[in-house]
Amino acid sequence: MVLSVTVVETAEQVFRADEVVAVLLPLPLVGAYDYRVPEGEQVVAGDVVRVPLGKRQENGVVWGPGRGDVAAGRIKALLGRIAGAPRLPEVSRRLVDWVASYTLSAPGAVLRMVIPVAEALEAPALAHGWLPAMGLEEAAGLLRLTPARQRVLEVTSAGVPLSTADLAQAAGVGSSVIKGLAEAGVLQSVSLAARDDERQADGDHPGPQLSDLQQDAARVLVESLGAGFSTTLLQGVTGSGKTEVYFEAIAAALRQGLQVVVLVPEITLTTQWLHRFAGRFGAPPSQWHSELTPARRRRTWRAVAEGRAKVVVGARSALFLPYANLGLIIVDEEHEGAFKQEEGVIYHARDMAVVRGQLGGIPTILASATPSLETVLNVEAGRYRKVDLPSRHGGAVLPEMSILDLRKTPPEAGDWGPGWLAPGLVQAIRDTLAAGQQAMLFLNRRGYAPLTLCRACGHRLQCPNCTAWLVEHRAQGRLVCHHCGHQAPSPRACPSCGEEGQLAACGPGVERVAEEARARFPEARVALVASDTLGGPAAVAELLRQVTAHEIDLLIGTQVLAKGLHFPLLTLVGVVDADLGLSGGDLRAAERTFQLLSQVAGRAGRGEQPGRVLLQSYQPDHPVLQAMISSDAALFLQTEAEARRQLGMPPFGRMVAVVVSGPEPAAVESVANRLAATAPRASGVEIWGPAAAPLAVLRGRHRWRLLLKAPRTVKVQTLMRQWLSQQQCPSSVRIQVDVDPYSFL
Ligand code: ADP
Ligand code: ZN
Repeated sequence: MVLSVTVVETAEQVFRADEVVAVLLPLPLVGAYDYRVPEGEQVVAGDVVRVPLGKRQENGVVWGPGRGDVAAGRIKALLGRIAGAPRLPEVSRRLVDWVASYTLSAPGAVLRMVIPVAEALEAPALAHGWLPAMGLEEAAGLLRLTPARQRVLEVTSAGVPLSTADLAQAAGVGSSVIKGLAEAGVLQSVSLAARDDERQADGDHPGPQLSDLQQDAARVLVESLGAGFSTTLLQGVTGSGKTEVYFEAIAAALRQGLQVVVLVPEITLTTQWLHRFAGRFGAPPSQWHSELTPARRRRTWRAVAEGRAKVVVGARSALFLPYANLGLIIVDEEHEGAFKQEEGVIYHARDMAVVRGQLGGIPTILASATPSLETVLNVEAGRYRKVDLPSRHGGAVLPEMSILDLRKTPPEAGDWGPGWLAPGLVQAIRDTLAAGQQAMLFLNRRGYAPLTLCRACGHRLQCPNCTAWLVEHRAQGRLVCHHCGHQAPSPRACPSCGEEGQLAACGPGVERVAEEARARFPEARVALVASDTLGGPAAVAELLRQVTAHEIDLLIGTQVLAKGLHFPLLTLVGVVDADLGLSGGDLRAAERTFQLLSQVAGRAGRGEQPGRVLLQSYQPDHPVLQAMISSDAALFLQTEAEARRQLGMPPFGRMVAVVVSGPEPAAVESVANRLAATAPRASGVEIWGPAAAPLAVLRGRHRWRLLLKAPRTVKVQTLMRQWLSQQQCPSSVRIQVDVDPYSFL
């Protein structure tokens, strides 16, 4: 990602009756439309207004002066401001424009991420009260300050929100005076009930005593508050106390009355984090993710917009909320692929967090044990600062790592069928359990077996909608496509040749490893953990409790186990297939595998007992595995960086992926070919493809890919815009643009 943000503070511009303004609607595929300000109204940029759109009415946001591309006589009047809707801050509007421009998305689609709950705009159903939205002088510029109006403003200037009835009484005016001030935008509405039912994090709540190293790190972060834009990498091995250290920065922000957003890769897995937060600050943070109930979303959105929600933790979309007073952004596990949104507006939340920091003139903290190459290079180039936590807290040592060479000591079969655990790992588990400690087996593959094959005819069970094999989930008796979600009961007979009892499971998923473990260690209490078996937050909390209370001996699971969990009695981590992911062949396969394995390994030995990690592999000499056992992240990254530098690959060069898809293969191919024929020719710019995508069919849509590769100095958005504007494409075919792609499927 290349940052080019210029921060210009503009004075708020008032648009009066008959002036034409641009209004952006939070809808995909539209830009801003021009509307006339009606008689008796006036608006400023950021106001939420109701506008006619065809035969409908929609809510939109005043974006600025009209664009003048419609004849004056045909411009419709907007209908008026939405009473009680918070004004969208300028920084949010600039973020929308910036992200739309960078990702080549419709601004309306980005605005929709800022206003994802349309109902939240309407005056809250909760009891609400009034506060001044501006100073007296500014108000006087908007409307004549009659003595009645002045009294209202005097009363509200105390900063205590009062309901309409209370305020009318206190100021000795009729409610119409208050209504008039609200409609002019001089008063703003804030929820009253919410003040009581939402306890907020307290920055003065006592925290743990930090070690000297932690204090040094925390000081740098705390000092960055209020000191303008900065980006700081907080790097430290797993268990070094990164979370405790950035909690200090949150505490300082809270004491300064600033809002904080913490972006986490997977919000459903943050149960432990939420507990720690509540313990540290005396109240839980506000959460923002897709599973919230509509009512909760609405309340939280308003609390954020009105500045009442002090700390928000959320998935990537939390970044776009219209914070009234954001002072700090934290991206936890910044290297995680989950920060890349792959649908709709395609963006990387970590990169956009830095952009938001720059637009708002505030610090961003990126935390990771294994930072992304992008971030490491930004540190080396001096664009980001870095603070280090080199060792685990409280004397815990990093686990000892070794590789089990499966070529020399392959797993042995047993009553349950083929084995997946080599003798060395089996023995280690046995020893760990005998010592009264816990072990964890990691395999990043859900289900029982990734492939089902007919022994009679060789047929492989494939998804009817995708170029993908169906994965057997034996516990549910179903075959599932992990790409589109297609499901069917596992058949008894081969759908191709009709033979019964010939379908064979090939390869392991976590269910199959659990089957073997249960057979080998009948006395052990085993828990299987994968995203499809997790259940809701309550189930996750119960599982964590069981592990912590040592009601579970052996945890078996996918990457959901890798992240952030802290179990002091867990001393052994076995990686069932350390090679998985290395063969992916895309740009970041090695980097991603290294990060994931490091994170899994980091679960071992976090308490008093030292941990150890066994990696099962058929290619023990692979650089990623060698880097793992030498625990030398820096060396690995250097090698990786050198390889990419030589090929001009990101982050040394820039890439834009173009995916053409549609139900008709011929139409898709022809659009892809035309794209290739009209591709931009510029110095250093290469076009790869078109070629059928590796995932050639997805959800019934045929897919072709092109890839534009350019030196960092090239402004790829300009090239892309010119290129795409020349395309005509049948309505069934979609062209999707992915700037800085992470997925190459
Ligand atoms: P990281 O985020 O780097 O993995 P954590 O912040 O989760 O590290 O710290 C690891 C463990 O050590 C946690 O249980 C945490 O509460 C504990 N810990 C870290 N620093 C301190 C401290 N200064 N005082 C007490 N406990 C600490
Ligand atoms: Zn499918």
